[in-house]
This record gives sequence, structure tokens and C-alpha cells, in this order.
Amino acid sequence: MPKYKRIVLKLSGEAMAGDKSQGIDMKVIDKIAAQVKKIHDLGVETGIVVGGGNFWRGRDAKTIDRATSDYMGMLGTVMNALALQDSLEKMDVVTRVQTAIEMKEVAEPYIRRRAIRHLEKGRVVIFSAGVGNPFFSTDTAAALRAAEIDADLILLAKKGVDGIYDSDPNINKSAKKYESLSYQEILNKGLKIMDATATSLCMDNNIPLIVIGIDEEDTMYKACLGEVTGTVVK
Ligand code: UDP
Repeated sequence: MPKYKRIVLKLSGEAMAGDKSQGIDMKVIDKIAAQVKKIHDLGVETGIVVGGGNFWRGRDAKTIDRATSDYMGMLGTVMNALALQDSLEKMDVVTRVQTAIEMKEVAEPYIRRRAIRHLEKGRVVIFSAGVGNPFFSTDTAAALRAAEIDADLILLAKKGVDGIYDSDPNINKSAKKYESLSYQEILNKGLKIMDATATSLCMDNNIPLIVIGIDEEDTMYKACLGEVTGTVVK
């Protein structure tokens, strides 16, 4: 039996790129989709917020106006959403992509009540274009959508790391992994797992979060069953 009824899964853009770090690797997306199918088959209502860092990160473009650059980043998330949709539908998982920036020919606009209805009917809803505004992140979009759809959990799936550490485990070999933390501790210690806006939104709305690695098998599945593999944040 799953421990959670409804979750928001946040997939970073990096996770979609596999080893290429840029663009999309469909083999990797298929692997992610297979994991999503497993939690969907458990009966967990699943909303997915996709990142876009594999295409564009607004703040990294030094010569482009920040807001314009952020809109470019948001468009990247839509490409990821469509790729993930394609992969999931090939596995017979019914999905809907919703976008926070209207583009009716491509996907549904984000409508909260409609998203909830899709979830109730067992469809996976993929939320793209972040919150639809520049100067925000897709982590903040995950926190916002989770609060809006009344999700029991945010699963933050990361590539290259399997939880929250006191320093970067890819640089510091003696970095210590936390089993559980509070949002306040994340803010106080300045841990760079999510930006402060997303962290505060989760904290203010009491949304539990589990940070898991995407590289190992079945981390999403185990997390949904209540087995701790990564770091739990409350
Ligand atoms: N972005 C934005 N508003 C949002 C979400 C995203 O402006 O609500 C832009 C921002 O430029 C960001 C880019 O889209 O750098 C990609 O999103 P993000 O960096 O959150 O993706 P991830 O790091 O998860 O791949």
C-alpha cells in the first residue's frame, strides 16, 4: 500500500539530459517514465513538475535581459514535458501536459481544478513553464503546485546526488548525508537543495519533502511506500 495519496514529483532538467548534461536523452527519459509508471500503478495520484536547466537557465545568460532569459528557460521546460509525456503514453500511462504560459496548440493551460480532476481520474499531470513568471524556479513551481493540489508529498528527484548532504558529496568525499531535516535547518545552514523561495513556500504550507536520487533503481517507488532512501524534510 502506498503511504501517499497524491504527490508532486519534481524532475530537474539535468535528470532529462542523462550524461549529455544538455538537451534530452530519450533513453534516460524512458527510464524515468518507467519509474513513474510504477508509482502510478501503485495508485498514487502523480503530478510532475519538470525543470528546464538542460536547455536554458535564465540567470546564466549574462548578455540577455533577465526576464527574457527566464522566459526562454520556461520554454525549455515545455520541451521536457512533451518528451516525458510521449514516453509515458508509450507505456500506456494517460497524461496531460499543462503549461503556466498559454500555448493552446501545444498543451492545456494550467487550470487548478482541471488538474485535480485529471489526477482523480488517474491521469498523470505534467506541469510545465514553471509558475509562468520570470525570477522564479521550477522548484518554487513544485512547491506552489503541491500546495494548490493539496499534495501529501513533494518528491525531489536529483541527478548525481541521493539526498541532502552537509557539503557537495561529488567534491567532498567525507560529506555527511542527512536522514531528516527541517525546512528551517535548510534555510539556517544555507543548504543548496532548493532556493529559499521554494523552501519557504514548503515550510509555510507544511508540505513534507523527500529528496531522492534518480540514478538508482526504484527510489520513487520506495519513497511512495514509505521506505526512506534519501533525506526527509518536514
Ligand atoms: N523559470 C522561470 N520561472 C519559473 C520557472 C523557471 O523563469 O517559474 C526559468 C528560469 O530561467 C530557470 C529556467 O526556467 O533557470 C529553468 O528552470 P529551473 O532552473 O528551475 O530548472 P531545473 O534546475 O530544475 O532544471
